[in-house]
Amino acid sequence: MRIYGNWIDNQCAAPSEGAFIDSIDPTTGEVWAQIASSTAVDVDAAVRAARTAFTTGPWASMRAAERGRLLCRLGERLAERADDLAALETRDNGKRTVDILPGLQTWLADSFWYYGGLADKVAGDVLPVDVPGIFNYTRREPFGVVGCITAWNSPLLIAIWKIAPALAAGNTVVVKPSEHASVSTLALAEVFADLLPPGVLNVVTGFGDRCGEPLVDHEDVRLVSFTGSVPGGRRVAEIASRTVTPTVMELGGKSPQIVFADVDLDDAAHGVAMGLFPPAGQSCVAGSRLIVHRSIQDELVERIATVAASARLGPPADPDTQIGPLANEPHFLRVLESIARAEREGARRVLGGNPVTPEGTCGWFVEPTIFVDVDSASDLFREEVFGPVLAVVPFDEEDEAIALANDTSYGLAAGVWTDDQLKAMRVADAIEAGTVYVNNYFTSAIQSPVGGYKQSGYGRENGTAALEAFLQTKSVWLNTAPGIANPFPREHNR
Ligand code: NDP
Repeated sequence: MRIYGNWIDNQCAAPSEGAFIDSIDPTTGEVWAQIASSTAVDVDAAVRAARTAFTTGPWASMRAAERGRLLCRLGERLAERADDLAALETRDNGKRTVDILPGLQTWLADSFWYYGGLADKVAGDVLPVDVPGIFNYTRREPFGVVGCITAWNSPLLIAIWKIAPALAAGNTVVVKPSEHASVSTLALAEVFADLLPPGVLNVVTGFGDRCGEPLVDHEDVRLVSFTGSVPGGRRVAEIASRTVTPTVMELGGKSPQIVFADVDLDDAAHGVAMGLFPPAGQSCVAGSRLIVHRSIQDELVERIATVAASARLGPPADPDTQIGPLANEPHFLRVLESIARAEREGARRVLGGNPVTPEGTCGWFVEPTIFVDVDSASDLFREEVFGPVLAVVPFDEEDEAIALANDTSYGLAAGVWTDDQLKAMRVADAIEAGTVYVNNYFTSAIQSPVGGYKQSGYGRENGTAALEAFLQTKSVWLNTAPGIANPFPREHNR
């Protein structure tokens, strides 16, 4: 069993109180590693390292093109070490290796190329200000030390979505991963260590209150990028407001999948199942609300149930496994409680809902579950379960489908299944969500922005929008005709 310290200044650093947290493998239930339980003292050490790297040394003086080339090397390194990193993440949070590895080898590695290519294209403007003798231009500058707080469901993906654009913009970074799954992020920093100057990328681990809060509250942290639940994001935004620190919020969702009557039923059944069950519902964009035309409800639900019931639950490292475990025991118990509550609320379970123990596992698995006769005002239809649980509500008219889809405090993603492209575009326009998939789900590419409407958050990851989020603007006023200024002119500009 390996014991991991924090990662500060390109070195392993023991936690100040000498305390560690067990990392539990959700497949076996066994402790397989330990991570540092950090406090404000450790956070301060990491932020100081990041601040020093930002203000002095090779990173501070590096030309943008050089920084871009360095990011490209990080992408190559990521692809080379993808096998090891994916194996660690599977061990840490039970995510299927087949869902992690190809991304690390291809588009997540490519994201370093993408942002590396943008590093030397960050440009300000020359503005036509109407002030005689004055030349005005803007500069796009990094914030300095950026704090990145990440969730347990996809630690590497979430961390890379933040680290690549933050570094391309010239910031330095301190990451605080979830205490349920920190090892892959620590390993990522370690595999980059010989490429990045000390202090540029640091990782501190520990609990949200003891380690996350001091990071958000630190006066040298100039931006916080947070991925997690709505309550977590609300708390972080409150703390950040004390120091008026800007935040980017990537929060939860309760995403609808609207299925119209004109679809091919088999295609739609596979698509809807694919949009929820493979990660056992543990995806922020999981399409967990099925809003289906009443005329096809029974037939579609039956076909989804057939597809879902045939899925093989098992160890997430096994390539034949189709659904892995829930990521940790408290979450497993919460999902079971959500299912029990749905039944108390009067929903009718037509598939699954039970815990299962595939051979060789400790049993934190829940069968794919489908509920019909769901009250659209119920918790099941409105609150994030973050498990393999589909809530079905029928509609008759297009407007009603849109109203049901939008009747939630979340606005992260939505799916629309129809053969009518014009209808698809009309509905996509009307849905209040940051991402709309039409006849596909979970598709992602580094070029396209990701983020939430409403309480699913603000700010965007991926695309040029993510780079923008890590830059601030300075306006420079240059007097082109210096002379003796009259301190008390008759007219002031402001
Ligand atoms: P949490 O909000 O519980 O935690 C997220 C991170 O915040 C963790 O690292 C956590 O640490 C930390 N944290 C918790 N409290 C504080 C605090 N007071 N101050 C600073 N940091 C704190 O979310 P989960 O980890 O449970 O992740 C699941 C949630 O994330 C779901 O709602 C999911 O939808 C959402 N998510 C959103 C994504 C998006 O892109 N929109 C992507 C992936 C997930 P610790 O765990 O140690 O408490």
